[in-house]
Amino acid sequence: QANAPAQQPSTLPVRPGLEGFEPYGAPQLALPVLLNVNENPHPPSNAVVADIAAAVAEAAHGLNRYPDREFLDLRRDLADYLHVESGIDVLPPEQIWAANGSNEVMLHLLQAFGGPGRTVLSFAPTYSMYPEYARDTLTGWVAGRREDDFTLDVDHALAQLAEHRPAVVLLASPNNPTGTALPLATIEAIADAAATSGPPGPDGGPTASVVVVDEAYAEFRRTGTPSALTLLDRYPHLAVSRTMSKAFGLAGARVGYLAADRAVVDVLRVVRLPYHLSAVTQAVARAALRHRGALMSQVATLRDERDALVEWLRGQGLTVADSDANFVLFGPFDNRDAVWQGLVERGVLIRVVGPPGWLRVSIGTGEEMAAFRTALQEVLGL
Ligand code: PMP
Repeated sequence: QANAPAQQPSTLPVRPGLEGFEPYGAPQLALPVLLNVNENPHPPSNAVVADIAAAVAEAAHGLNRYPDREFLDLRRDLADYLHVESGIDVLPPEQIWAANGSNEVMLHLLQAFGGPGRTVLSFAPTYSMYPEYARDTLTGWVAGRREDDFTLDVDHALAQLAEHRPAVVLLASPNNPTGTALPLATIEAIADAAATSGPPGPDGGPTASVVVVDEAYAEFRRTGTPSALTLLDRYPHLAVSRTMSKAFGLAGARVGYLAADRAVVDVLRVVRLPYHLSAVTQAVARAALRHRGALMSQVATLRDERDALVEWLRGQGLTVADSDANFVLFGPFDNRDAVWQGLVERGVLIRVVGPPGWLRVSIGTGEEMAAFRTALQEVLGL
């Protein structure tokens, strides 16, 4: 195995806390049906590819120079997209931030607001990278709980804020791996309490907890679930992150972004590496944003496919978490690894993730979902 960790004891001065960790990531297997990392199954069309290629060619003429460090044009384009997608006013570029995937946006947030002696609070089960951002920024990690149906109990959340005084609260909505979207009222209640629930300030006075709503899957939400973006003008300590990796179908380009008060963004600008967004990345993202209609044309189909899958799985007698995302968590299985392996043997890759007994499947094309259904019926003997 090319990437197997070295077996020899090392004399390297590895930082305490990193011992025994493996690099994060789902198995990458070359199977015909890939439903394991919540990608959009539809590649960009030839027209979109041609425009992206032309934009990259133009950027290539200037690659002897460092890129635009502040990427204001991209930030303007992202603000325009959020205005159209979520119905909020067009935010000034100073209220938008972007990085190499929303993973890097989150890392910037914890670099800016976390750190030794501070705590980040989230509610499990949730995205398994969150504790890794905490580890990498030497921030304490606290996971409150979700209910059996993966919703969030507001009283529990507020009690956790009061107990831990977190510098950052991470709320994924829709949540990965469960697909659960948070009602706006829940986010409001947490944001209200968070105004004074942060760690003690330099003078001992109250500070806010920064509330981060991770909306990586927001475009897949069922109609009637408004985005937390609509709350931004009421909460200076709220940040809403998004990504081009999912609905936008651009996971390979690595572009994530957030919207927040300008003061939040200004601290992120302090911790980012200089020129962190390459000229190529900026060109690709801007070209793709011009084609947002085409790139996202399948979102409605994917939603329908998801709802049909939830119904079908329930029809098979399985338990399925309500999903507002492009994936579905289902179970329970006494031996989920065996189910996963059985699917792999039939050419279908899904993900072993979530509480014991559950599996997660991403929504693919109609054909891919048919292949998944057939394989699952065979594996379970249905
Ligand atoms: N947040 C959540 C909840 C996710 O599931 C993911 C991707 N799996 C991300 C953030 C990061 O996505 P990206 O870095 O590709 O933007």
